[in-house]
Amino acid sequence: MNNTSALVLFSGGQDSTTCLAWALERYGRVETIGFDYGQRHRVELDQRAIVRERLAALNTTWRDRLGADHMLDLPALGAISDTAMTRDIAIESDAKGLPNTFVPGRNLIFLVFAAALAFRRGLARIVGGMCETDFSGYPDCRDDAVKAMQVALNIGMDSRFVLETPLMWIDKAATWALAHDLGGAPLGDVIVNDTHTCYLGERGALHDWGRGCGQCPACRLRADGYAKWKSSRP
Ligand code: ZN
Repeated sequence: MNNTSALVLFSGGQDSTTCLAWALERYGRVETIGFDYGQRHRVELDQRAIVRERLAALNTTWRDRLGADHMLDLPALGAISDTAMTRDIAIESDAKGLPNTFVPGRNLIFLVFAAALAFRRGLARIVGGMCETDFSGYPDCRDDAVKAMQVALNIGMDSRFVLETPLMWIDKAATWALAHDLGGAPLGDVIVNDTHTCYLGERGALHDWGRGCGQCPACRLRADGYAKWKSSRP
């Protein structure tokens, strides 16, 4: 295990792109992993290679550190999840505020596969964009869930993984600010132009915050965060 290397859960969205830049600033070797589980917004998977290329072009240090990309097919996850994330139904929330885009255990499953790959690749740090602050109501994005997974993975794989979640305690406006701290306006432009967030998979008109339907919960979070960040700047 090499503590100067990391595996980033990289979907091609705003959060995981910010996490990838964060990891490229810190670690000498950074690999990425993505999952295809039949998500409606599969277009995000097409953006992954584009975003990786753009990040490498921004900074020679990042280019030298960026290692292999790994795509895993998880059709079983799509097959067992009857949700608005994988089916063409309206996105809404239940009485507890849990949106029907919730794929039960999705992030837990991702972490298990990421750790299995990190084990084989000798990568000690696993970086994910889970966030408890502005979170969409997904219980497996909570800090306790991630910490519990770290314990379980280390016991179950007899390892010393460190699960890192740089976005855990910041909101979407602060995520935009973090990207600008890491890569300035050029990284901000990559995030606006090339990352994908919209749950419906729309990539139509370009808004100041990026492309998307503007109405689904993911678009609203992203757009509201952008507006808040913009208005906070001098
Ligand atoms: Zn949308």
